[in-house]
Amino acid sequence: MVETTAAGDPALGPVWHGYWSDETDTQAFARQLATCPALAHSTLTLRGDLGAGKTTLVRHLLRALGVRGHIKSPTYAVVEPHSAIDCPLMPAGEPLQIWHFDFYRFNDAREWEDAGLRELFASPGLKLVEWPERAADFMPPVDAEIDIEPDPMRTDPDHDGARRVRVRAHSPTGRLLLAVLAT
Ligand code: ADP
Ligand code: MG
Repeated sequence: MVETTAAGDPALGPVWHGYWSDETDTQAFARQLATCPALAHSTLTLRGDLGAGKTTLVRHLLRALGVRGHIKSPTYAVVEPHSAIDCPLMPAGEPLQIWHFDFYRFNDAREWEDAGLRELFASPGLKLVEWPERAADFMPPVDAEIDIEPDPMRTDPDHDGARRVRVRAHSPTGRLLLAVLAT
């Protein structure tokens, strides 16, 4: 479902609303997103409380893009690089570079420069960013924001996989991602 922004709010882009009943839907969302060529050169943020499902979505997306083997989470390293060999979005033989950032423990401004994060964000490839709000002073413009929250109406243990999802586009690339989700 795509909804355009209310008039008078030009800073905000169009929004897609989704609903995941369980992790199967999260995987289906990831697979759909992974069909969009624009994803190969984009920056996406993932927002939501601890346990919302940000890392889980990233893992499904990495798999859908062709990342093989064990997928490490960046929680202690701030950023984890991945290379998707045989990525369907890339020319044959050219891997897609993916950087998975997690700024949950980010608190040192110097780290931004020391770890070369500016260069990583400027380089080609896909950048997926958890906890962007903790590096808000440094974050470059993003193409789309993905918000995930457990469905407050479904707190019973039988439905603990239910999530409400909102994707907001902030650039032409972000709009292409929304268009793929809307199909
Ligand atoms: P975050 O990175 O947002 O802190 P994680 O992805 O690490 O969250 O953890 C989310 C947890 O919720 C995982 O244990 C995952 O299996 C579970 N989960 C249940 N349903 C879903 C869903 N629909 N989408 C994503 N994760 C889900
Ligand atoms: Mg996480």
